[in-house]
Amino acid sequence: MIRFLLSSLMLVAACSNQPVAPGDEAAAPVSVPYEAQYHDAARALTALETLSSDDYEGRRTGEPGNLKAQAWIVDRLQQLLVFPYYSSGFQAPFAAGKFDKPDMEVRGTNIIAEIEGANGRRSPVIVMSAHYDHLGVFEGEVYNGADDNASGVAAMLEAIAWFQENPPENTIIFAFFDAEEQGFAGSAFFVRAMPESLRERMALNLNLDMVARADKGELYAVGGYHNPELIPLIDSVAEDAPITLNRGHDSPEWGNQDWTLQSDHAPFLRAGFPIIYLGVEDHPDYHRSSDTFEEVDPDTFARITDTIIMMAEAADDWVAEQPKE
Ligand SMILES: [Zn+2]
Repeated sequence: MIRFLLSSLMLVAACSNQPVAPGDEAAAPVSVPYEAQYHDAARALTALETLSSDDYEGRRTGEPGNLKAQAWIVDRLQQLLVFPYYSSGFQAPFAAGKFDKPDMEVRGTNIIAEIEGANGRRSPVIVMSAHYDHLGVFEGEVYNGADDNASGVAAMLEAIAWFQENPPENTIIFAFFDAEEQGFAGSAFFVRAMPESLRERMALNLNLDMVARADKGELYAVGGYHNPELIPLIDSVAEDAPITLNRGHDSPEWGNQDWTLQSDHAPFLRAGFPIIYLGVEDHPDYHRSSDTFEEVDPDTFARITDTIIMMAEAADDWVAEQPKE
């Protein structure tokens, strides 16, 4: 995620540590640990912990920690028995310009899997995406990127496991993008290089970036402003979701908290495809070495991961119901 931060940081600081009136502690409801309905919460948490550990050195594009993350993700995909999207395998190296600076070349490697829909190569396509790269090591400190975006990778692996057991109607391409932190080079390349045969089947991009740290218990769905036809879909998931799912952060009135062009969904949106981006609000550890696994609340992450899979499942139904041209 690439966000403009300062004002929101101060906002977060202002909102925390609200005074608790005497006697309020006794009235607080007893929290029952959330039981995941759509995924293996322990496995998801282990994935998040692994990728955000110091061993992976912040997964900076082109560096050893990033290559190690690639190997780990590919290994998990092989365990899940999912097929690679490209005939050459899961890893798709690229040398490509940044989204907004096409002249600045970045070299990286996207990792792409696919579950084919009921109508094979004629099925409409949903691209689910989550970037696995982060900022690396800076002045001796590892930028672990637990929320940004080991969380999205871990959640998407669970979505793959779900759809392996519950085959989708549409084709779902699962894109673990590289170089998001370098101007969305991986997703920009994927969209630019998209063959016509895929372009004409593209129905939706569902992007996950920063999906663990809902300090206020809220997850946001971006995209309804740009594609109002998505609003009923988003709202129907929100009704049953185990976390508060709000629409927003996608129109000019949000100012520098308009996330329309702030992650890998941007190249898809600009190419004219509908997008839903799911993410949490900024927190004080955003793009700092303190974005670590220890700051992740397992209960919240399990709720969000279930919500993500509910959204993917509902999106699959929604796309299947769209009139064919
Ligand atoms: Zn980021």
